[in-house]
Amino acid sequence: MNSIRSFSVAALLLLSAVTASAQVAKPATIWNSSPNYSASSRESSYNIDSVVIHTTEGTYSGAISWFKSTASGVSAHYVISPGGEITQMVADDDIAWHATYYNKRSIGIECAGYAGKSSTWTPELLDSLTKLVAFLCDSYDVEVVHPSTDAYDEPGDTFTKTGILSHGQIQPWNRTDPGPYFPWTSFLADVAALIAPGVPPPAPAGLSPDGGASASSPIALSWSPLDEFAVDTYYVQLDRWDGSAWIFYSETYPAGASTTMTFSTAGYYRFAVWAHNAAGWGPGSDYAEFYGLPAPPVPPAPTGLSPAGSISKWGPSVTFKWGAVPGADKYELYLQYYSGGSYKYYYAWTTTTASKVVWPSAKYTWYRWWVRAHNSTGWGPYSGGGSPSSGTGSAKFYFNK
Ligand SMILES: [Zn+2]
Repeated sequence: MNSIRSFSVAALLLLSAVTASAQVAKPATIWNSSPNYSASSRESSYNIDSVVIHTTEGTYSGAISWFKSTASGVSAHYVISPGGEITQMVADDDIAWHATYYNKRSIGIECAGYAGKSSTWTPELLDSLTKLVAFLCDSYDVEVVHPSTDAYDEPGDTFTKTGILSHGQIQPWNRTDPGPYFPWTSFLADVAALIAPGVPPPAPAGLSPDGGASASSPIALSWSPLDEFAVDTYYVQLDRWDGSAWIFYSETYPAGASTTMTFSTAGYYRFAVWAHNAAGWGPGSDYAEFYGLPAPPVPPAPTGLSPAGSISKWGPSVTFKWGAVPGADKYELYLQYYSGGSYKYYYAWTTTTASKVVWPSAKYTWYRWWVRAHNSTGWGPYSGGGSPSSGTGSAKFYFNK
């Protein structure tokens, strides 16, 4: 295994160790019932597949009073104070009235404070919320995930996702809670760690490219995915050989199961990958080496276009040809035709060969065209030193039927 001496980013993100437990204990709660609920017998009556996080937009005591008033017509299963005290007002088996069409399938938790204030998220409140949500997810088999979409992303503006949800995802038209300051990433990691402390993922393997192969920038670095270890992110470090030692060159964090990196100097490079899950960072992979070449320049403009020179062509088809450009992986042929007093877009084709047969539909009129070549760096300039947008530099011909 490799040293991780230069691996500073991940070190900062190491999660605190959590003691393993077979089942997550319910944190201490104060029972103070609300009359606002639908009696039920979940999870035999309805499956609980989500936990909805709210902010009260007022004080802890104010929320409890409000939920005890039949006039309010609303409630939540739990209310948490800024100091971390948890009041339970509706039994988990029953249905609280907190998120309209999500009530039957969810547990509602109100956090005392405001969606628009970062100060709502005190360490004490978050600690109690983490323990409570871990208990609920463990008890009712709710997945510890937070979908990134909301009701507007689904048919009929009706949200259907499971997991730990914000009220704002379910009713984006009139709710934003728990708001932009809620620390989703660390919260989910902490909840997951409480439920299944587990072990960090193993060292990634199957790195590519490897073995000193040559590769041009930008280069796709890949490795075998470690999905079964619930990896949530990877860290990739790229080093360059400076003639006497490997020196840090660049890094990608967070990374998915592959990443693209760029470099501007030819030479030997090596990279290693670390994987992270709720239990922390695993060991680094073995280094994979390759010879990196800077990105090649874009290809030159193609020449030798035919038809050109304002010649007259008879149909029904026209074979467009140009000189092949070394290193090109494809070409774009851009064609305009003359109609109503000006040149108009006819069509643009992408082709991998240096020719293209076209059957133009507008007859007895002028056509003009350009072609450009593409390689791993990008598109080169259009032929003739001009462009379709400026109208200059074209190859031109008259099309008879
Ligand atoms: Zn809410």
